[in-house]
Amino acid sequence: MSEENLLDPEKPYGPLNVGDLEIIVDREGCIGASACIPPADKTFTLNDEGKAVILATASEDSEDDIIDAARACPVLAIKIRKNGKDLI
Ligand code: SF4
Repeated sequence: MSEENLLDPEKPYGPLNVGDLEIIVDREGCIGASACIPPADKTFTLNDEGKAVILATASEDSEDDIIDAARACPVLAIKIRKNGKDLI
């Protein structure tokens, strides 16, 4: 994975805004299970540390797909907020 594929190389884990969503990956909590990737593979990938990071193409996934990805995480390491409200 190259840094230029990241939405923001300074903040690979967020918090970052994608459309109306704010995405945060808990770097410490992420165990690299990669269950988040199939539902939203334009949004999440694993970096060299085996942690989920947010891709520049994230806006190509739908909100529902991104939310599904967060729900798929076995340790709920992805937090999603919308309009200041925690969705997950
Ligand atoms: S599913 Fe959860 S633990 Fe697995 S890579 Fe994604 S964020 Fe990390």
